[in-house]
Amino acid sequence: MSNRRTFAIISHPDAGKTTLTEKLLLQGGAIHLAGEVKARGQARRARSDWMKIEQQRGISVTSSVMTFQKDGVVFNLLDTPGHEDFSEDTYRTLTAVDSAIMVIDAAKGIEPQTRKLFEVCRMRSVPIITFVNKVDREGRSVFETLDEVADALALDVVPMSWPIGMGGIFEGVLDFATDTIARPEGDSREFLGKRDAKGEGAPIPAEVAEEIELAQAGYPEFDLEAYRHGDLTPVYFGSALKNFGVAELIDAIARFAPPPRPQTSEQGTVLPERSDVTGFIFKVQANMDPQHRDRIAFMRMVSGTFKRGMKLTPSGLGKPIAVHSPILFFAQDREIADTAEAGDIIGIPNHGTLRVGDTLSEKNDVRFTGLPNFAPEILRRVALKDPTKTKQLRKALDDLSEEGVIQVFYPEIGSQWIVGVVGQLQLDVLISRLEAEYKVEAVLEASPFDTARWIKGSDAALKGFADFNLSNLAKDRDGDPVFMARSAWDVSYQQERNPELTFSATKER
Ligand code: GDP
Repeated sequence: MSNRRTFAIISHPDAGKTTLTEKLLLQGGAIHLAGEVKARGQARRARSDWMKIEQQRGISVTSSVMTFQKDGVVFNLLDTPGHEDFSEDTYRTLTAVDSAIMVIDAAKGIEPQTRKLFEVCRMRSVPIITFVNKVDREGRSVFETLDEVADALALDVVPMSWPIGMGGIFEGVLDFATDTIARPEGDSREFLGKRDAKGEGAPIPAEVAEEIELAQAGYPEFDLEAYRHGDLTPVYFGSALKNFGVAELIDAIARFAPPPRPQTSEQGTVLPERSDVTGFIFKVQANMDPQHRDRIAFMRMVSGTFKRGMKLTPSGLGKPIAVHSPILFFAQDREIADTAEAGDIIGIPNHGTLRVGDTLSEKNDVRFTGLPNFAPEILRRVALKDPTKTKQLRKALDDLSEEGVIQVFYPEIGSQWIVGVVGQLQLDVLISRLEAEYKVEAVLEASPFDTARWIKGSDAALKGFADFNLSNLAKDRDGDPVFMARSAWDVSYQQERNPELTFSATKER
């Protein structure tokens, strides 16, 4: 069976994702942050969590994929940009993982972004391991946290460990599986019965012992199948900052998290055991140098063994490209390694030929489904300060939508191009990149539309609809028809009136 574990960390800002990532990498003995995909532009720079690590630790590389290895298991950790603001990048990255770690602040419980990301995971039944962080500080009662996860997310919870006191009286974390206590280095207190990893006694206050007894009786046993279906989450407690509970977490990922999953395609399910190479692009990122339009397309390997120089055919192109200088994130010291297998991520340099959602395959005989575009939550009209720059703007909007920074809609009537995003931050990124990279000064204005839906139906049905609603119709970057709605009410009204059309909030490529 595959030794790959490909996962992401989902959390609300400040819960400790960066700190945990750093500890995972250190414990995994990794630190080769290979792959050197530098963030570019201040806006993006500021929101990259890896930049934080980089600044703090003097690590020289910013990366979207971190690979580390422990006890024969290869872990691929994919970055989901962690900000209050959401981008499609984040959603899409979650389509490329097999499981997720949900980090919760022990004092704050489930926060809005945790919940949003969780919902994305749930849509695809991505299994989740919960890590309750910062137990070295005063937090809520453990029961309260567990119940909140269970209630808010409608998940079965199984505590796999238990913090012994929190805040001032914090003594460590008792791991139920091994019945040992991971303790903060040094200052141990009085003895109380349990042994820590070094065989030394560690104290468990009577009230904590009572809690533990209650917990072990009150929560169900861990059930691997239920976890893998996304119905149950094992919960670990720890402190990323003080580095405990982290080794147990890595162990849990290695033991429980699923190996690379089969992927659905138009031609049926593709198993990871299949021998020829297949994969899909889930992210496209501009390369370091803003003067060059080079991009790195991130491909999640679904099957086969990739070798450098291999020819792969992108579904969007139809003719093969030779992948001579792939970025393999498992490469030692940023060198280009030679192979990658199912579950791994490859960075493929290109000049815009590869797009998010593309399938790549050796034999050009599959097309993966299920990599969605999401209906934008914010729509804005783009107005040029210098009207002679229309062509540049169009190019820029096409490029940036291809990268997944924004979505763009070209209305059937008029010349007021509309951009759509799922988070406000994307708009800031848009404006700064238009200026920096395309020398286009633009402003964003209120749009008459509130939301958008991709519409599908027979040609006749679409034409019938267009006859009455041309001023509400637009084309997306691919030329597919989109209904621009003034309100959610508008959407349901049209849906009722046009049962022969489907209106969808996501578009699967
Ligand atoms: P992110 O925004 O989720 O990436 O969070 P960070 O990793 O940057 O952490 C946010 C803040 O919480 C920082 O000041 C960290 O030092 C702190 N922090 C992270 N983990 C812990 C922990 O286990 N205990 C305590 N006390 N603080 C922590």
